[in-house]
Amino acid sequence: SVNNKHIPPGLLEATAKHPCYSFGAHHKYARMHLPVAPKCNINCNYCNRKFDCLHESRPGVTSEILTPQSAEQKFRRVKAQIENLSVVGIAGPGDALANWEITRESIERLKAIDPEIIFCLSTNGLLLPEYYHEIISLGIKHVTVTVNCLKPEIGARIYGHILYKGKRYEGETGAAILIKNQLEGIRLLAENGVLVKVNIVMIKDINDFHIPDIVKKVKELGAFMTNIMPLIPAPGSAFENYQQTSMKELNKMRNQCQLHLHQMHHCRQCRADAIGLLGDDRAIEFAAETAGRIP
Ligand code: SF4
Ligand code: SF4
Repeated sequence: SVNNKHIPPGLLEATAKHPCYSFGAHHKYARMHLPVAPKCNINCNYCNRKFDCLHESRPGVTSEILTPQSAEQKFRRVKAQIENLSVVGIAGPGDALANWEITRESIERLKAIDPEIIFCLSTNGLLLPEYYHEIISLGIKHVTVTVNCLKPEIGARIYGHILYKGKRYEGETGAAILIKNQLEGIRLLAENGVLVKVNIVMIKDINDFHIPDIVKKVKELGAFMTNIMPLIPAPGSAFENYQQTSMKELNKMRNQCQLHLHQMHHCRQCRADAIGLLGDDRAIEFAAETAGRIP
């Protein structure tokens, strides 16, 4: 079911051009991820810090980090060569909000070039209560928040530590702060007309039994859809020896949760520098070009 309690007029029409939010758009409209956000303020056990935040599907490939200036140049080049570029997303390789000044400047520069572009941000949510009003005033209408649990005792098994307001918190204490901010952030964004997609990483025996509860909770807070993703154990991460979630288990969970809230079924777990249509990534082509032209 679609949760459209707070959706402002016109937003769903615009969203029809977003390849991740709209299945119908995924083979027609292209998106570009800008890897401008290197730092992260939390430590997920499935992350090994060498790959992109949640999105890396090909181990060994790391994205270049762009400055707002080089992001602008890359955007101009991609826009000239890729048809139907409708969305620019900031999805890492770290957290978009942990690098807020760079993220904001990049968005402002691109908006000045093309006011029609739809921006989307992907975040772990820790800093949402601090920055939600800036996100809204920048005109961003699509935000993805990764929420893996609602309980600190589960969170303590998923997150190593968090860095918040200059302090480091571990275990349940850190997880409790993170969860509180994620949920508050989702509510604040949704109430202000932002379409919130919630990513959930499905980890066998750690949070899989708890996923329907997460879906119900984020729906209540106003989330528009959820995207349940498989755990892909990254080499060198704390979950390196965990089992990869099978597509069978994943689809069963998505179908079960679909009864409560709209589910994304076509996520490709893209690189933080992905470019093009969802099924036809051209990141390498443009990364090589950038490497050749920008010092
Ligand atoms: Fe890694 Fe993303 Fe988790 Fe940060 S939020 S630790 S970049 S997976
Ligand atoms: Fe869309 Fe999934 Fe790729 Fe993000 S990782 S751009 S949600 S398909």
